[in-house]
Amino acid sequence: MAILKLYEYPHPILRKKCERVTKVDDEMRKFLDDILETMYADKGCGLAAPQVGVSKRVIVLDDNPSDKDESLRNPMYLVNPEIIWKSEEKVLFCEGCLSLPDQRADVERHEKIRVHFLDYNGKEQEILAEDLLAIILQHEIDHLDGILYIDHLSRLKRSRLLKKLEKYREENKEKGEKND
Ligand SMILES: [Zn+2]
Repeated sequence: MAILKLYEYPHPILRKKCERVTKVDDEMRKFLDDILETMYADKGCGLAAPQVGVSKRVIVLDDNPSDKDESLRNPMYLVNPEIIWKSEEKVLFCEGCLSLPDQRADVERHEKIRVHFLDYNGKEQEILAEDLLAIILQHEIDHLDGILYIDHLSRLKRSRLLKKLEKYREENKEKGEKND
């Protein structure tokens, strides 16, 4: 397995609509292993293929990521995931994204969703997701259509968040230079 390079905002690959996967073969399974390892290495609870520079409809997630005890992990691989039903009830949750490091904001999502997808073995699956799992799924599936969570914010909140991101990057650049 390998850790893949993360693509951060505003890289254009994050804005592209991803292509459907035609076959879940060994090559795809190797990619699924790598993207999952990258997600754990960066302490994320979800990661979409465009975030590692691959414009394909693939996401991985874990609604119970644990650094300490790997046996508690609950990884999920979803190829060509599609939301086929959404509840009318919505919930607010404070989201973050590995492509916008160190930032968080409240986003409104459907409380429950039903998702159709292909699993690690290319088998068709359907799940009814709620709570954190439903939120992660909506966030990651958005990535496959070039949508970031900041797109769900008001213009004012978005520009504030992007300014904070810029500041965070400046500060970390300075720290990095001092450590050299
Ligand atoms: Zn994200």
